[in-house]
Amino acid sequence: AEKGKIGIIGSGLIGQSWAMLFASARYNVTIYDINLELVNTACEKIKTELKTMEKNGILRGNITAEQQIELIKGVTNLEEVVEGTILIQECIPEVLSLKQQLYDQIDKIVGSQTIISSSTSTFLPSALSEKMKHRNQLIVSHPVNPPYFVPLVEIVPSEWTEDWVIKKTRAIMEEIKQSPVTLAKEVPGFALNRIQYAILNECWHLVNDGVLNVKDVDTVMSEGLGMRYAFLGPLETAHLNAEGFVNYTERYSNSMYGVCQQFKPSPKFEGPLVKEIGDQLNTNTPLEDLPKRRLWRDQSLIKLSQLKKYN
Ligand code: NAD
Repeated sequence: AEKGKIGIIGSGLIGQSWAMLFASARYNVTIYDINLELVNTACEKIKTELKTMEKNGILRGNITAEQQIELIKGVTNLEEVVEGTILIQECIPEVLSLKQQLYDQIDKIVGSQTIISSSTSTFLPSALSEKMKHRNQLIVSHPVNPPYFVPLVEIVPSEWTEDWVIKKTRAIMEEIKQSPVTLAKEVPGFALNRIQYAILNECWHLVNDGVLNVKDVDTVMSEGLGMRYAFLGPLETAHLNAEGFVNYTERYSNSMYGVCQQFKPSPKFEGPLVKEIGDQLNTNTPLEDLPKRRLWRDQSLIKLSQLKKYN
């Protein structure tokens, strides 16, 4: 059966990923950018990408790459993306004034049944929407790169986002087989970056205090904690590491608290240690090798995402 329409605004890396995800679930997708050339380039890239993934057996959804390509259409005026759309996924650069300007334009033409969903990694939904007439239709749906193989989406409502918007956004994310979590309220960093920054802070201190070098800090995650975390979160990890979580706290809360009391305040990530960490990273992964290393990362994530289907 024919599905409704999804609009993608901004046809860069994240916009292209969203377009493919929505098309995989048979939505009609329109992609908009500031000029025709950008839109056409994005559509060409998507076409190649979908066909390559089909050939490699990693295409999502249960229709062919050709059928998915047919569902994706480039457009060059905003009205065409906004009109009659179930959900607009905004994917323009991370600049607050740019986004607010765009939302101001959308606000003038959007109907009352359209969800306005932002891919922002850092801006709170209230900051994006406070001046809008349709502010109760705006929500953040924050993906993780590369979204096609890392399924988490953080859904973040502002205090004025309406309940139906929160529920429907989540339902759509589930339908396209992403893995949404819904924050009950907006907090800076959402959840993923709050956890990521706590980890980065402690990594900084371990290097700064001369406990481990950069490579070994990363090994602690990639060969240790990260192995578990790809399958279990830290809370269930604790649950399994004792006879349940309550038992875990009985056994370990004192020693855990003792360690944590030694934690230092948040470092500022400035000064000579920045260069030192950069230099150590460059030794193993020189800057000119970053594209190659990213490709390797993405290919590894593809294998992991296949494994996580647990079949
Ligand atoms: P990008 O630079 O690859 O793409 C941005 C696109 O938006 C460009 O094609 C640009 O021409 C277009 N654009 C600029 N102004 C526009 C306007 N007014 N109307 C329509 N299109 C416009 O950026 P990206 O990496 O795809 O990031 C997009 C958003 O997704 C950002 O908010 C970013 O924070 C978020 N995000 C990025 C990542 C990531 O890893 N790249 C992860 C999660 C979330």
